[in-house]
Amino acid sequence: LSAAELAAVRADFPLLGRTVRGGRPLVYLDSAATSQKPQVVLDTEVDFYEQRNAAVHRGAHQLAEEATIAFEDARASLAAFVGADPGEIVWTPGATSAINLVAYAMSNATLGRGGVEARRFALGAGDEIVVTEAEHHANLVPWQELCARTGATLRWIPVGDDGRLDLSDLDSIVTERTRVLAFGHVSNVTGAVAPVARLVAAARRVGALTVLDACQSVPHLPVDLHALGVDFAAFSGHKMLGPTGVGALYGRRELLEAMPPVTTGGSMVEVVTMEATTYAPPPQRFEAGTQMVAQAVGLGVAADYLGELGMGAVAAHEVLLAEELLRIGEIPGVRVIGPSNVGVGPGGLPDRLAVVSFVVDGVHAHDVGQVLDDRGIAVRVGHHCAQPLHRRFGIAATARASASVYTTTDEVGAFREALAGVRAFFSVN
Ligand code: PMP
Repeated sequence: LSAAELAAVRADFPLLGRTVRGGRPLVYLDSAATSQKPQVVLDTEVDFYEQRNAAVHRGAHQLAEEATIAFEDARASLAAFVGADPGEIVWTPGATSAINLVAYAMSNATLGRGGVEARRFALGAGDEIVVTEAEHHANLVPWQELCARTGATLRWIPVGDDGRLDLSDLDSIVTERTRVLAFGHVSNVTGAVAPVARLVAAARRVGALTVLDACQSVPHLPVDLHALGVDFAAFSGHKMLGPTGVGALYGRRELLEAMPPVTTGGSMVEVVTMEATTYAPPPQRFEAGTQMVAQAVGLGVAADYLGELGMGAVAAHEVLLAEELLRIGEIPGVRVIGPSNVGVGPGGLPDRLAVVSFVVDGVHAHDVGQVLDDRGIAVRVGHHCAQPLHRRFGIAATARASASVYTTTDEVGAFREALAGVRAFFSVN
């Protein structure tokens, strides 16, 4: 992004104009937790409630028709943005619920429709689910629970000292027993980009389903789900400039066709008698009850906003920010967890993004966060919902700085300068 484009982007985000801690300009470096929202997304939600609010898919009146069109147009926008067909996008409240939807469907096979693909959702003792040691709890705990419900066994791909997945034993971890391989596209701790093609190939070889946690990739990289070849993907609206309360599950069409429903009730049915019910085709089969229509419409506009900026340009801007953020490694006593420089990864895209977790020798992460906050700099501290990955590195907590399309190199500079003063502040030598 040129300086003028970046200034124009920033002007679109009202919250970035506010001050914190007694008049300091806000330096928001917590976009991996949640991104800020452009005015057009906020306006779209308000406009929906002011002009179009109605229940979708059912009403016989004009408002219902307009609301339905807005809702389905949003689905089409989001689908186009991630390289999917609209019928392959299921609205969910977020990534966590999207992953849980697949995991629960896999212990709900009695509601399935039969057929070869449907059998892929029936799991039992002797079956294995493979995750990685780098996962966010949202892509770990649902699989642990699925194992507990079905008798399947959880295995995982370890993380190497460099913070990247260690694939040296991949062939003995992903085997004929593997039914699901679930992994994050980009780590929300180290920023490392996973070798998707290699993992998808390993899963395909043994007929396992792939589930991609795309929470940290969709807002920052061009993502084409059909090209990546994954079976399922989950992501959240609120991390990609959209509203909270909405996200999506992508599923390959044949798989969604075969997948048993999880939440049952209104809107997801075809024929209901007192004895039995037939279910609607996907995506409606997975959208029981009244949906988060205003948020979905807002998310469609967020996808359009990013699409208009161009994800190539967004990714290039974020590479610059990642490089600037990684310069904190030059500060005495500061240690970055994970890859310490940006290289070229699959498809010519960067192999790590602008989310950088670090420790400061002799200073607790929470104290680091507080000193930065006093200067108006917002970072996240803790385990970032990835306790196993922190345990892998023998640390309980890190501080994490993460950028988005609206972040400037000046902001990263202010962060580095403040961080350089942290050890002196606590009189650590
Ligand atoms: N996976 C990753 C990698 C994440 O960063 C997050 C959000 N912290 C999630 C899953 C969960 O997303 P949500 O809380 O929006 O459901």
